[in-house]
Amino acid sequence: MSDFILFLHTTPIALYTLIALLGLCVGSFLNVVIYRTPKMMQQEWQQECQLLLHPEQALIDQDKLSLSHPASACPNCQHPIRWYQNIPIVSWLLLKGQCAACKHPISIRYPLIELLSCICSIIVVYHFGSTWQMLAGLIFTWVLIALTFIDFDTQLLPDRFTFSLLGLGLAVNSVYLFTTPILSIWGSLIGFLCLWLVYIAFKLITGKEGMGYGDFKLLAALGAWLGPLMLPLIILLSSVVGAIVGIVLLKVRKQNQAFAFGPYLAIAGWIAFLYGESIMKIYLGN
Ligand SMILES: [Zn+2]
Repeated sequence: MSDFILFLHTTPIALYTLIALLGLCVGSFLNVVIYRTPKMMQQEWQQECQLLLHPEQALIDQDKLSLSHPASACPNCQHPIRWYQNIPIVSWLLLKGQCAACKHPISIRYPLIELLSCICSIIVVYHFGSTWQMLAGLIFTWVLIALTFIDFDTQLLPDRFTFSLLGLGLAVNSVYLFTTPILSIWGSLIGFLCLWLVYIAFKLITGKEGMGYGDFKLLAALGAWLGPLMLPLIILLSSVVGAIVGIVLLKVRKQNQAFAFGPYLAIAGWIAFLYGESIMKIYLGN
């Protein structure tokens, strides 16, 4: 095992190939996570309501949806997807974006998320080299991809991901991986509070709810990873990303359609994670 790690350390091409393949496979798994997590949450809420209202009719758990059960199938004809039809990107191209059985179109988003996961993973490795930071950075990146697309689809940022990311940020910085333990704690507290204050102010002024608690928890998680000094940059970047995406999507999306803030926060957080220090140096002029 240590020979293998040494080999990766001394042979960059092997490291990049391994990470590219890993990024593709994780991307394939993220597709399942993005598609199923909101459905799993909905099922859990329904079961909780059922239990509360009609405990005598409590549901039997046999049809419980999870990330591994039931096996992947075409949503149109329920034709099971075989392992060789589930190879990242390649299968989608070979199937020409259609179900093998019923020719129902398969969204191009699936291979694109696999490609995105692959490219982002390579960028993380390029940035950190073969270090512990790289390993933590990969997990950070993958969780953010899942959160971005779940929020984009459903306007939800599931606690199971935001809290895990927050806990992991505190954990990796307890050993000074990206910032000090103290700055990590302050980053998470200030990250939560500053959006919460914006939320309260917005609600007092307009009477509407501008964002959800998920956004505060996500910024708290980003603060735990990057420390409080990066928070202004994250908020600034998320407005820039939001403006750019808003202009691009203006023609695609209908007016007044609810928009999620989470994806912009996640993208801004990822940029600040990799390039925040460089951006700050350029901005501060040294
Ligand atoms: Zn089908």
